Amino acid sequence: MDAIKISGVSKRYGDLQALNNVSFEIQQGEFFGLLGPNGAGKSTLISALAGLLKTDSGQLSIMGHDVGDDYRLARQALGVVPQEIVMDPFFTVRETLEFQSGYYGIRNNGEWIDELLLQLGLSDKADSNMRQLSGGMKRRVLIAQALVHKPQVLVLDEPTAGVDVELRQSMWRFVRRLHREGHTIVLTTHYLEEAEELCDRIAIINKGEVIALETKEDLLARGLGSKLMVRSKDVLGELPQEFQSKVVRLDGCELELALNRDSDSVMQILDTLRDSGVDIEFVSVINDSLEDVFVRMTGSSEGEAK
Ligand code: ADP
Ligand code: MG
Repeated sequence: MDAIKISGVSKRYGDLQALNNVSFEIQQGEFFGLLGPNGAGKSTLISALAGLLKTDSGQLSIMGHDVGDDYRLARQALGVVPQEIVMDPFFTVRETLEFQSGYYGIRNNGEWIDELLLQLGLSDKADSNMRQLSGGMKRRVLIAQALVHKPQVLVLDEPTAGVDVELRQSMWRFVRRLHREGHTIVLTTHYLEEAEELCDRIAIINKGEVIALETKEDLLARGLGSKLMVRSKDVLGELPQEFQSKVVRLDGCELELALNRDSDSVMQILDTLRDSGVDIEFVSVINDSLEDVFVRMTGSSEGEAK
């Protein structure tokens, strides 16, 4: 059984096709990355998974439970950390979590709530009102809230946007632990290095369509894979015709060429450069990051936004 199954899901907002026939599955125990530029449809898809949004077509299920027909069971199996912070400012942290437990029909959840508070570094904030918390602390409460009912599947929608490094790391420690303990994790993030570090498999979504669905390794190795950096002793001028389409960067004495691992020979490229009069001083091969792949595939520099 898949942890999440999405089949043929479409959603329009007026003229805008926010999701266009999206289909993929996420297996139990995966750490899955959902990447895409702003407006790609990531949050829309997550809302649909949480049953908060009516789609125009398609089916979604969580742990085998249809989100439409089997809403309660699907919801029980899913915890969502939303992108937007929406909370009642007058509740304390503990009340917020007790209230959320009640929503799932769970009483006497104190022990688990204490554990969540401890793990998320919130113990000393348990009796603070939500409005007294910093943005980062509120994010932690959102995570605790998503976990009060011990869901098998945890979806985090850009949980680290605007969060400081320390909190981000403690958050990841906790999420990693949940993953080790068998939870399925779905992470949406702008920080591609985060996805690169954490995720086993990645879907790239752009303009409502899935444009890639691969293991991280395959995605990194896809097509180009790496770049060749050449530094010349002199400022570089006109390059041989055959290189024009490969140039990633040409900046004074430095040149970066996209390398196709299957068909390009570094030696041959260097020979051609030398033959055309380039006096080579230094050469290195740079492996593509997920960010390079992402930018190339979506034609967006969104991933660079920090
Ligand atoms: P992402 O989370 O990938 O940034 P979203 O799912 O939030 O993208 O949005 C996808 C597209 O749908 C965007 O163009 C957004 O403006 C649009 N959109 C999202 N919610 C609504 C809504 N309630 N009404 C109209 N358009 C919406
Ligand atoms: Mg979003």
